[in-house]
Amino acid sequence: MTVTDLPAVPVQLASWPTPLEHAPRLAEAIGLGAGDLWLKRDDLTGLAGGGNKIRKLEWTLAAALADGADTIVTTGAPQSNHARLTAAAAARVGLDAVLVFPGNKPEGAPAGNLLLDAMLGAEIVWAGDTGSDASVVDVAEAVAQRLRSQRRRPALIPFGGSNAVGAHGYRLAGVELLGQLSSTDVVVCAVGSGGTMAGLVAGLGVNRVLGVHTGAVADPRATVGRLLCEMGEEVDPESLRIRMDQVGDGYETLTDSAYSALTTAAQAGGIILDPVYTARAFAGLTAEVAQGHLRPGTSVVFLASGGLPGLFGHEGVRSADWT
Ligand SMILES: *Cc1c(COP(=O)(O)O)cnc(C)c1O
Repeated sequence: MTVTDLPAVPVQLASWPTPLEHAPRLAEAIGLGAGDLWLKRDDLTGLAGGGNKIRKLEWTLAAALADGADTIVTTGAPQSNHARLTAAAAARVGLDAVLVFPGNKPEGAPAGNLLLDAMLGAEIVWAGDTGSDASVVDVAEAVAQRLRSQRRRPALIPFGGSNAVGAHGYRLAGVELLGQLSSTDVVVCAVGSGGTMAGLVAGLGVNRVLGVHTGAVADPRATVGRLLCEMGEEVDPESLRIRMDQVGDGYETLTDSAYSALTTAAQAGGIILDPVYTARAFAGLTAEVAQGHLRPGTSVVFLASGGLPGLFGHEGVRSADWT
């Protein structure tokens, strides 16, 4: 079964609302006025290290439970925060979780999210050197088929939890944010699988959301546009604000500007970003200010979307010079 219908109520997995914090030193460090920058702390969503995927899982898991599922099957990169949080959410509500990753099991002790996935009791299936995202999905379908033949009831949640049901969680996050700061001019978020940005656009309107492409999908404008369409929103994909300049050598590498963002956020805010998503998003915000597209006096909200465990499983971070 595929989760498509919006359930009546979500599964509660966190305490809402997440905090909205002023960040005056960080604002000045990137050329904004001291009063201009807030952090929306969606890294503080509680469950198993927290992160943005919880808002989506509250809805996708509710849909799976309503359909009578006993097992959740999902896919992602080996350091997927979504996979870790799916395992945690499944454990909390008493479902089994199967996580399908590309490639082969890494040598040595598991690090970062993979360690937590194991601790959370998820079954991990390595898809092997298949080469494409589509073939990982094929392996997930085969896992679901195997489970059905064992009279289990699997529910497939897509990569990143991004379908119209999951993205609904971020539509509500947009509404939550306006309750905290009605003068919000722009929210800056990372774009991975796209559900976070799509939901925020649905909740806040296209002009108030700036996405930063991380390289997780081929065409983020098309991906976010399609999700909005599935959510019943009429938004011209061309009108989406997405920065494309932070991908560098690819999703899993640590770019120079992400390295700078990690150190700036740590040293001017005491905030630890993650190397894949929030460091790229913060680097995109920094560039947006430096290029004069965001001026002092604008109310900017940066979505701190989590990912701290991924930092400890990231080769580029572990081998970078932090002295
Ligand atoms: C997945 C993820 C994102 C991106 O969210 P999408 O909805 O997949 O675009 C941002 N930040 C972190 C830490 C994530 O794990």
